[in-house]
Amino acid sequence: MSAFETYPEHLFFDAVANKAIDLAERSALKNGKDIPVGAIALFGAAIVGIGYASDGGEPGLDHMHAELVALEAAGNRLINPFPADTVVSSMEPCESCQEVIALDENITTVVFVTPRTELAGRGLVNHRRSIEERAAQFELPYNVVRLDNPDVNQRALEPFNYTTRDLITGKTKVDSDGFRAHIAQRIR
Ligand SMILES: [Zn+2]
Repeated sequence: MSAFETYPEHLFFDAVANKAIDLAERSALKNGKDIPVGAIALFGAAIVGIGYASDGGEPGLDHMHAELVALEAAGNRLINPFPADTVVSSMEPCESCQEVIALDENITTVVFVTPRTELAGRGLVNHRRSIEERAAQFELPYNVVRLDNPDVNQRALEPFNYTTRDLITGKTKVDSDGFRAHIAQRIR
């Protein structure tokens, strides 16, 4: 069994998760066609890569998931003295990202905020086995940390309030204008 831990408060990871959520918000504002997710790649306490879900509409960015963009930016696929050892995502990584991360021997810890069950409940993703269930069944090559701080959770959900998805076609639509208006009037 792999380690799966839930933290209602984690000073360091909560701060990093807020940066990942900043990136998810950027995704919601700039990419109208993908579920807004942000991710941070860490080497120890240092940020070595950032990424957000991209629909490929920006030059130099293919359609990629936030976690993989962050690891690419961290240079984990290159010979690298400081490869990321931790991925912090605003959302539970999807199964294909989990598989890529599992093949990266540098990664020891995966941290996330919004569980996919929450998004399945909103009709944004299909029901699949959760990373928590996988960690209980298999020896995953990394530890999993779920952050469960109510303030962080609440903020992470905001971009999803402006996201809809057709689960048959996979077509996703983010109401970027609506989310922009929400951010403009949000009380900080
Ligand atoms: Zn993914």
